[in-house]
Amino acid sequence: MNIQPIGVIATPFKQKFAIPRQPNLANASGRVTFDTPFDDPQAFKGLEGFSHVWLLFHFHATARRGWKLQVKAPRLGGNNTLGVFATRSTHRPNGIGMSVVKNEGLHTVNGRICLDVSGVDLLDQTPIVDIKPYLPYADRVDNATDRLTEYQPIPERTVHFSPMANLELDALCVSYPDARTFIRSILSQDPRPAYKQHLDDDAKIYRVALFEKDISWCVRQGEICVLAIENLP
Ligand code: SAM
Repeated sequence: MNIQPIGVIATPFKQKFAIPRQPNLANASGRVTFDTPFDDPQAFKGLEGFSHVWLLFHFHATARRGWKLQVKAPRLGGNNTLGVFATRSTHRPNGIGMSVVKNEGLHTVNGRICLDVSGVDLLDQTPIVDIKPYLPYADRVDNATDRLTEYQPIPERTVHFSPMANLELDALCVSYPDARTFIRSILSQDPRPAYKQHLDDDAKIYRVALFEKDISWCVRQGEICVLAIENLP
């Protein structure tokens, strides 16, 4: 079986750390640029009729590490394991990921056909292997259950910006008007490993690469404090 990527997605997430665990947990935008011969408008005829699409993609950044029978489940606190097929872990056979995202429309940029989407949980430059419309009549399951939500809900921490970070953010908002809301929503989910999320590790400074920025932050009394927003080295 040979799988050829149909294109690649550009996203604000320049590293794995701090990418939401699933789509639509933050309003992150993505742009899929298609390779020839998939960049033919005929292949997209009718796609505008669907509000959401499935992105099938390759977990290219972790694929070389192979797969595991059992993986640590962040929602169980990070110490307990589940079978790989009971998770959405990246460490799976064939390294295939799937995310439902909002269809923001087709555009032509520099002569190339692109699909804009939002709500992504994908690393920048992830290879896309297929796109399918989301079909509410078939894909929505009203009585579906997920008992794990009882264990560890996604954190909703308050996020503060230091005076310096606020100034830097004002400048960033010139290019990315939603940057403030976006950074707040990413950090409020507390990107630290699950086993650390109950800790107030005041002294520790974390860094996350979003857009072209290096964002440093720490946790104080259960709240996230953004210290600085600087250019990536
Ligand atoms: N929604 C998808 C699914 O269920 O198949 C992905 C879920 S997976 C738990 C989401 C995580 O995958 C993100 O938080 C990020 O750390 C990681 N990730 C995203 N894109 C990746 C890539 N191209 N290679 C490796 N890991 C990636």
